[in-house]
Amino acid sequence: VLPGRAPVVAAVDWGGTWIRVALAAAGGALLAQARHRRPAGLDSQCNLVAGSVAALAADLGDRPAALGVGIAGITRGGVVESAVNIGITAPVDLAGILRAGTGLPVTVVNDTQAAALAEAGALGGGTHVLLTVGTGIGGAIVSAGALVTGNGAAGDFGHMVVAVDGPPCSCGGRGCLEQLVSGRVLDLAAQRLAATGGSPWLAARAAVPGQPGAGDFDAAARGAARRDVHAGDLDAAARAGDGAARAVLADAASALAAGLRSITAAVDPEVIVLGGGLLGRRAVLTRLVSDCWHDQRPHWSRAELRPALLGAEAGLRGAALIAARR
Ligand SMILES: [Zn+2]
Repeated sequence: VLPGRAPVVAAVDWGGTWIRVALAAAGGALLAQARHRRPAGLDSQCNLVAGSVAALAADLGDRPAALGVGIAGITRGGVVESAVNIGITAPVDLAGILRAGTGLPVTVVNDTQAAALAEAGALGGGTHVLLTVGTGIGGAIVSAGALVTGNGAAGDFGHMVVAVDGPPCSCGGRGCLEQLVSGRVLDLAAQRLAATGGSPWLAARAAVPGQPGAGDFDAAARGAARRDVHAGDLDAAARAGDGAARAVLADAASALAAGLRSITAAVDPEVIVLGGGLLGRRAVLTRLVSDCWHDQRPHWSRAELRPALLGAEAGLRGAALIAARR
């Protein structure tokens, strides 16, 4: 590091499919990045990260001062307690392994926590929350510019109970928000509406065009010449005026609004940032959630809903901020 020059930091966004690595300025701006398909086996993944950081540093001609990691799992200190999508089922001292592999000081947080830190950067001080709906639900809390992690997993809003006698959850509880609204759940809902013909639009979509049965709802219901429909198709169906698809999204919005009420009761945030693939800025679901929130928020709450701004870069930028602050 040259005298008088702000140090560069390294950042990793470690997901189930991709491992993204970047070098960044201390303020979070990305200077160079690489994306790698995640190999099987934790040793291979750690070697990949160390090698990628070294390669980017060589390209940039600058050695990073620290490494920040956001990983799709439950973290406590530098330890990953579990990260099912990454194959970690027992606690692993990931910070220790990466420190040995890179020679850098390492900080590890949950990937949504990292993203929240980056998204909150544009919001100033105060208490802000990020809620994402993608394959699952993610969440995190930032207060006065710092993450609020509790013992590690604070802000894991997918496990707020919104239906006391609802469906069972992987956490051991019932009626968790993630069991009512998630990509996984809405994929199944879309497929059910297509298979039963409950949604003519989705049934037509599921029938492969050009094949016998295209647009033939009975053939679609029998499972002939089908393609999978997904949560995203509910959005297109609702826009096309399909009442059944819209009703599924309205139920999802109602469950999310119940979650937002619980978040507000626990944290009383100024801003709730909505993100993830299913809560895009123009999604029907996002609009329905906003409508529900307008009608249902606690009268004392001033929490505003805002769209996430940083997209796929949020995790990397947040990991860089975490590295820069240690
Ligand atoms: Zn749960």
